[in-house]
Amino acid sequence: MDLPEQFTERTKSLLGDEYASFENALTTDAPVSIRLNEAKSQRMPLLERVPWASSGFYLSSRPSFTMDPCFHAGAYYVQEASSMFLEQAFRQHLHVDQPYVLDLCAAPGGKSTHLASLLSGRGLLVSNEVIRARVKILAENMTKWGSPNVVVTNNDPSDFARLRGFFDMVVVDAPCSGEGMFRKDAASIEEWSVENVKLCSERQRRIVADVYPSLKEGGLLVYSTCTYNREEDEENVRWMIHEMGAELLPLDISTEWNIASEGFGYHFFPHRTKGEGFFLAVLRKGDSSGSYKMKTKQTASSSKIPALFNDWLNSASDFQLFSRNDSFYALPKGIALSVASLESELQIVQAGVTLGKAKGKDVLPDTALALSSLLRSEAFEKADLSWKEAIDFLRREQVFFPNSAKGWVLVCFDGHPLGFAKNLGTRANNTYPQEWRIRMEADESRYEPIWK
Ligand code: SAM
Repeated sequence: MDLPEQFTERTKSLLGDEYASFENALTTDAPVSIRLNEAKSQRMPLLERVPWASSGFYLSSRPSFTMDPCFHAGAYYVQEASSMFLEQAFRQHLHVDQPYVLDLCAAPGGKSTHLASLLSGRGLLVSNEVIRARVKILAENMTKWGSPNVVVTNNDPSDFARLRGFFDMVVVDAPCSGEGMFRKDAASIEEWSVENVKLCSERQRRIVADVYPSLKEGGLLVYSTCTYNREEDEENVRWMIHEMGAELLPLDISTEWNIASEGFGYHFFPHRTKGEGFFLAVLRKGDSSGSYKMKTKQTASSSKIPALFNDWLNSASDFQLFSRNDSFYALPKGIALSVASLESELQIVQAGVTLGKAKGKDVLPDTALALSSLLRSEAFEKADLSWKEAIDFLRREQVFFPNSAKGWVLVCFDGHPLGFAKNLGTRANNTYPQEWRIRMEADESRYEPIWK
């Protein structure tokens, strides 16, 4: 691998004798790993586990995930193993009953889907991405993951300063120089320079300083990058301690995990652990920046909520249902007021679960409902499709349900809902979202089920 000379020099001075094995590891294939969505399936695959993440597994090769309908159903997320270490910060230090968590730099959604699983329906997750073009994929991935207590926003870190003391945990998975991605992404090698490391480090400090007021007194800041250098990692953590008065928290880690630490956070190196380069530190906020006063306004509801949702939803009484422009949504009651407050402070892209849309006297169920843990699947006629039929459905092609009654059909693959179709008898309307449609031709030889 043709590494920038200055990167080699700097990393040699960090790693000493280990440098040769580090460089050698970069010439091997990057491990492939997934994280299961236990809210959708408790079936465990017969695969090697990622030791620091309860639902993380390594695959022995990289299949075509596009060809696996379970991937589109949100049954698992493809995530680099080292990044799953976030789970240790959450489990070891977040001891709040209904935590409010912000994932500030969230697209495409690896850490947000993980946080949603760890929250398991408790509290609130605000999943934010500042770059507009990247919010779409974040919203899609969060919808597929199916947790109802998630709000996706499109804001600059500085916008969160308004929400003084709002969050129990803020995750800053910062934009960085990408050193840890060299093996997977050749472009990150091209873009690397000492100047860029410096620029990234300065930007990271700005981002953390901007969002810090939104953290509660005693709240947790999780700071991570996919780099090895001290400027973006240890020196930034020191700066957070000295300039912002944050307290560094230790993580209890097994020596078998081979994680490196100089005392200011935890480093994953590809020659030591099965994963890519990654750095993570957990800090606790000391003093308070004041506390946010919730607005008392309820989420606006312009029309009556159809009674059929009592049938379509699991424990509908735990959710506040509301409508906007003919569409219906659900949010857990416990966070509805907080979300209404957020609406006046942030650019909200989606909040809770989109249930459906009124059309005349009918309600068209939304794909987000099919993918959500809120769905009471018994309310619908179900069709479990073959692999080819499922891919056709996901390609938004014609599908047929000769054995189903007319009306709404919950389209499933291997028991996992994918979306809805309206069965008209001789043909059916495929309502899979146009913008999510698979464009790749069906190729069963490239399909490798996770659960063999
Ligand atoms: N957390 C994501 C995950 O696990 O899938 C990966 C996040 S990536 C390391 C960093 C993110 O920060 C990118 O989505 C990028 O668009 C965003 N970003 C770029 N510039 C930013 C800025 N100035 N402030 C906040 N976020 C920024």
